[in-house]
Amino acid sequence: MAYFRVNQRCNGCLACVENCPADALSARDTQDHRTLLHNMARCARCGNCWRVCPQDAIEFQHLLHGDWDAVTTLDLLRCDVCNAPVYTAPFSETVSKKIQWQMKPLCPRHREALDGLARAAYIPGEHKKEEVSP
Ligand code: SF4
Ligand code: SF4
Repeated sequence: MAYFRVNQRCNGCLACVENCPADALSARDTQDHRTLLHNMARCARCGNCWRVCPQDAIEFQHLLHGDWDAVTTLDLLRCDVCNAPVYTAPFSETVSKKIQWQMKPLCPRHREALDGLARAAYIPGEHKKEEVSP
């Protein structure tokens, strides 16, 4: 019997993890890497991960043993400000290529803070509002 494998096209976007109805996929972060994990005991074999994967990276070919099997490990990028894990380097490359802009690794909190600063700098009304104090 053959089952779950992830090929080299995986960029660690985590769409499969977010869309697995059985919590059979997970990701573990270390300082520099993100590892995708698959749990054969939980897997409902529904194929949802395969359907949502934007990279065609999931292949059902090999039987895996044990509870959690590491199926791929990728370089992890962290927030430039607070060092929180953000996304993988291959995911950043994929998106940056699509939008033709090099993405800066920022966590949602610091991306929002930076957007606020940019708005204040470029929209005179917003800047003034912050300057006026009661
Ligand atoms: S590229 Fe596919 S296999 Fe890799 S994390 Fe994204 S959805 Fe999962
Ligand atoms: S086949 Fe279904 S249950 Fe198994 S890992 Fe993929 S989405 Fe989860």
